[in-house]
Amino acid sequence: MTANAPLTQIIRDIRNCLHYLRASGCAGFDCTPQSLRALENLGLPPSAAPERAAETLTGIRNDLGNCRRCALSDSRTHIVFGDGNPKADLVFVGEGPGFEEDRCGQPFVGAAGQLLTRIIAAMQLSREAVYICNIVKCRPPGNRNPHLEEIHQCIPFLKRQLTAIQPRVICALGKVAAQALLETETPISRLRGRFHDFMGIAVMPTFHPAYLLRNPEKKRAVWNDVQQIMKRLA
Ligand code: URA
Repeated sequence: MTANAPLTQIIRDIRNCLHYLRASGCAGFDCTPQSLRALENLGLPPSAAPERAAETLTGIRNDLGNCRRCALSDSRTHIVFGDGNPKADLVFVGEGPGFEEDRCGQPFVGAAGQLLTRIIAAMQLSREAVYICNIVKCRPPGNRNPHLEEIHQCIPFLKRQLTAIQPRVICALGKVAAQALLETETPISRLRGRFHDFMGIAVMPTFHPAYLLRNPEKKRAVWNDVQQIMKRLA
């Protein structure tokens, strides 16, 4: 062991702590009593830190409220928070609600959603067994890609959902989801097909079902990706 080892460990611990705070929705430091209390409790065993009790999806939904954090709220009909098993081993993350999802408040219920349901069934799973959500929770007008600022406002809630669910695998559906989660501009064609890491969770990027509807020849690639997920979950 070198003389630098303890320092290296401290730096690693601080970095892990910052990742944890970020995953908990912290975008900066403030000195409010709530934040200071949360910091005091960090690292304590659960019995000694009652305020660190795990968040629930219901609590996160309540916190989101009638969100007006970005301009997508001006044109949305419903917030699409997410749906499925709150303790799912597998979470699918799409891009953002489309027309049908905006109307009914549920993720992936349109044509792409029906294909996703068939993919899930082919994995010997059901929609009730997994959790399905999106990078942004409100429909971008005309189904355009969400802007970076919109993603930046919304993704802390997704991170808190993932921290609450603690899935073993995340399947990122399409370029927007994969690039936002992995904070990269690498094309989806190069990201898919192998596992990446997000907050310590294995992420498999694959093509979006809407893209598959337009490019059915890509189904084989998606099947390869979901088979890798099935192996990891087995
Ligand atoms: N496309 C997405 O990315 N998400 C949905 O919920 C529906 C369509």
